[in-house]
Amino acid sequence: MGKNVIERIEEANGPLFSFEVIPPLKGVGIETLFTAIDPLIDLKPSFINVTYHREEFVYKKREKGYLEKVSMRKRPGTVSICAAIQHRYSIDTVPHLICGGFTKEETENALIDLDFLGINNVLALRGDPIKTETHFSPTDGGHAHAVDLVRQISDMNKGIYLDDEIREPAPTHFCVGVAGYPERHFESPHMDLDFQYLKEKIEAGAQYIVTQLFFDNQKFFAFRDRCWQEGIRVPIIPGIKPIEKISHLTFMPKFFHVEIPGPLTHSLVKCKNDDEARQVGIEWGMAQCKELIANGVPGIHFFTMGKSKAVRAIAGAVFSGR
Ligand code: FAD
Repeated sequence: MGKNVIERIEEANGPLFSFEVIPPLKGVGIETLFTAIDPLIDLKPSFINVTYHREEFVYKKREKGYLEKVSMRKRPGTVSICAAIQHRYSIDTVPHLICGGFTKEETENALIDLDFLGINNVLALRGDPIKTETHFSPTDGGHAHAVDLVRQISDMNKGIYLDDEIREPAPTHFCVGVAGYPERHFESPHMDLDFQYLKEKIEAGAQYIVTQLFFDNQKFFAFRDRCWQEGIRVPIIPGIKPIEKISHLTFMPKFFHVEIPGPLTHSLVKCKNDDEARQVGIEWGMAQCKELIANGVPGIHFFTMGKSKAVRAIAGAVFSGR
């Protein structure tokens, strides 16, 4: 069993470099994923996260023009990808586990698989609503909020399984992270509630926070200050996603509910093509990371979304030569 995220933070002399990958679409080989990971390996990532994607509903054309609604997982493989990464690169992984699409028993079984594979990290999340639905609805027999998932994992760490008749249950050893939102979670009516629920996740046993991506460091610093005021004393790792295309100017606010600062917006609207936009995104990302590190963050976590070029440029400038 490798070291967990908290152990990595505690033993490090400086901020950690980590990143997140998404499982390839069904039918695409794992080599595609390795091609995205390879350019980042020499920067010595402390851990690699693998996202989890729940089922989607797709409509299949059937005879006589009928449409059949079919449930399908387009990006399966989170647990096995973690094992494959650990095997190939000898780097610890952090699988994301979500509430949506899982009963509590399925969650327990997934955690048992992870434990058997020697994976002792989990990022515990609620998950987004199914794409064709407007709001999140929990699976029958599953969890409604990330805090409930954190509680289940904490219970297993104490040897408490769903089946209370297990004799001498073996405790697991998961280090649990949770999500935080410097610009508020999009469903939350007010930051006050967001902090209340974030604190509940920590009290339930989460040991660190990874934030949603953001482009304005001041928002991160304000979030970190407020966490401190609320008594949340766990490491807070900022999440960074570089702008890579002109279309990100509208995609990021729409999809991630974050604001693009004025100066970055003005630079991006002047770009004539995606190469220029990527360069603007890289320069902004570098400045963001340098300021975050100067202000004592425990690490920087990059969202690659399967593309490593811009992340490599930024992380290379910030983390190479360590
Ligand atoms: P929660 O903490 O449950 O919060 C969700 C909402 O409910 C918030 O508005 C919160 O204020 C409210 N809330 C929380 N607890 C309670 C309560 N007890 N009672 C009432 N309201 C409550 N999604 C995926 O599907 N797969 C991934 O791999 C994935 N990875 C991510 C990684 C990071 C770093 C981040 C920041 C997000 C990721 N997401 C992922 C997206 C995430 O699942 C969504 O943002 C989701 O909408 C919320 O997840 P959460 O864990 O923050 O939920």
